[in-house]
Amino acid sequence: MLVIFRIMRRLRTLGLLAIMAMPIGSLAAQEKGSRHLPAIAFSQSLAAGGATLQIDFAEGRLDLPRSEVIQRIQTAAHAVALYYGRLPVQRIRILVIPVADQHGVLQGTTWGNMAGSPAFLRLRVGQSTTREELAADWIITHELVHTALPSLPDDQHWLEEGIASYIEPVARVQASQLSAATIWADMMNGMPNGEPGSNDHGLDVTHTWGRTYWGGAMFCLMADVEIRKRTGNRRGLQDALRAIVAAGGSIDKEWPLARVLSIGDQATSTKVLEEMYAQWSVTPVPVDLPRLWSQLGIRAGQHGVTFDASAPLATIRVSITIPDRPSL
Ligand SMILES: [Zn+2]
Repeated sequence: MLVIFRIMRRLRTLGLLAIMAMPIGSLAAQEKGSRHLPAIAFSQSLAAGGATLQIDFAEGRLDLPRSEVIQRIQTAAHAVALYYGRLPVQRIRILVIPVADQHGVLQGTTWGNMAGSPAFLRLRVGQSTTREELAADWIITHELVHTALPSLPDDQHWLEEGIASYIEPVARVQASQLSAATIWADMMNGMPNGEPGSNDHGLDVTHTWGRTYWGGAMFCLMADVEIRKRTGNRRGLQDALRAIVAAGGSIDKEWPLARVLSIGDQATSTKVLEEMYAQWSVTPVPVDLPRLWSQLGIRAGQHGVTFDASAPLATIRVSITIPDRPSL
């Protein structure tokens, strides 16, 4: 039981099931029998972001050449390595499981210390996935971001998902894989899902899909903006997250949250993470999102968003998506 419990605590899963707004506990419960690995039909190792990726393909047809899936994984790894300065663990094993008669990257799950590797990703990829669907995928990047944080206690699962949900698009913009307009439009559309409802008791207590993924992402966005406000835009959430990785905080470790927040705050010479956590964890903290978008200079238009460079926090908005930090 202990083994199963520990493995369940370490998994992060994302895909169609999460989008269907299932309770997080249900997602985790599905993974109980997933430790039996399928037969491997093809394997390739490659260097990326200072780490070795071992990419295994389970048996099953894929219409696209495997090399295109490998290329897509490399692209995702590049974005994550750029954001963090390097990939956070030395070895990452990625198992690609073809799913007959399906389209697109369907689901991803990431574990720490599994299958002989400090980080293990399982990706379910539809047999009929097109080149365009692969190019549009965000799940692989999201899963790789999970490798850059220690496993946290269950009540703080929202921070694991919040960081992955917020950093994935930001890292892709920094790597010139997405436009800033695309991700701010996505945030305008999606972030209201993270607002507390009428029966909310804070992020450590309210483990719904909306609060876990979007509520966690909203915490990260607000932390990023607040750190930049307090430091004259010299530091951001990226500095905090890089410092956690530099201190050895990757998915193969189990840390209490206090250690994560303390290291992150030290890196920005603020108390933003600790102060926000104290409030957001046990009380519902609504965010005036329309006011935030206005201050950041983001306006919804007929064809996506437009930017207002004269808005009071416009430079903070721009700084969030610029890769201007040297590697650690
Ligand atoms: Zn996730």
